[in-house]
Amino acid sequence: MHSLKLGGFELSIFSDGTYPLDGGAFFGVVPKVMWSRKMPADDKNYCTAGLNSLLIRTGKQTVLVETGLGNKLSDRMKKFYGQPGQLLANLDAAGISPEEIDIVINSHLHFDHCGWNTVRDQNGKIVPTFPRAKYFAPEGEWQYARKPSERDGISYIPDNYDPLVASGQMTLLKGGEEIVPGISVKTFPGHTAHMQAVIARSQGTTACYISDLIPTTAHIDLTWGMAFDLYPLQTIESKKEYYSQSIPQKWLTVFTHDPQTPWAYVEKDEIGKMVARPVR
Ligand SMILES: [Zn+2]
Repeated sequence: MHSLKLGGFELSIFSDGTYPLDGGAFFGVVPKVMWSRKMPADDKNYCTAGLNSLLIRTGKQTVLVETGLGNKLSDRMKKFYGQPGQLLANLDAAGISPEEIDIVINSHLHFDHCGWNTVRDQNGKIVPTFPRAKYFAPEGEWQYARKPSERDGISYIPDNYDPLVASGQMTLLKGGEEIVPGISVKTFPGHTAHMQAVIARSQGTTACYISDLIPTTAHIDLTWGMAFDLYPLQTIESKKEYYSQSIPQKWLTVFTHDPQTPWAYVEKDEIGKMVARPVR
């Protein structure tokens, strides 16, 4: 299991499993001869994408960042993505029950980031998976999700968030809020207009769940963005802004979709190339 101490916080990665993602969608305009050296593809051009949630124990609260694909995909979507659905089992294996989660934060509301927010009970009613938790998500993202474009409408499943907003269990964020002491959000536009990274700070050390701005260690180069990004030029600007803080301040970067390396320190080497230094 991936765990480490960040000042007074304890950070752990819990995976919802992996799912197949088309290599062209994953790497946008980057030629396959380049990306396939970093991430292998199968004979149908599918790469294996991870679904990494970050659990933060602050000493007072237990905070879960992102909730994977969940178990409510339609049959059509299951054909593309399968149904890994391992997050709750992986939490349970570490002795963590859904009742223990105090806070759930979604960086954005694409279906592969908030799937376990809710489940269907025996009567088919949508209920919160984490009954005691306060949920948080970007307000702009939720507004957009109500009327998404033709291009990305398939990425939003209202059952993942609408019932929580309606019941008052989900708080919508403007960006920049501190949710509990040491854990805050910051908007990095590019992948979507309102995606928020989650930043954890304790005793002078910082970790950042950068979400789909830098989905894997293969995406650390400024120009290696996903084809899914709605605003690719903003992705580049947001990455520059992120690195201008994260590199000099030695932040730990958490990668939402990396199947092997869920976190690393992103640095610039002597010739200015971005490298992901593993956590020892
Ligand atoms: Zn996304």
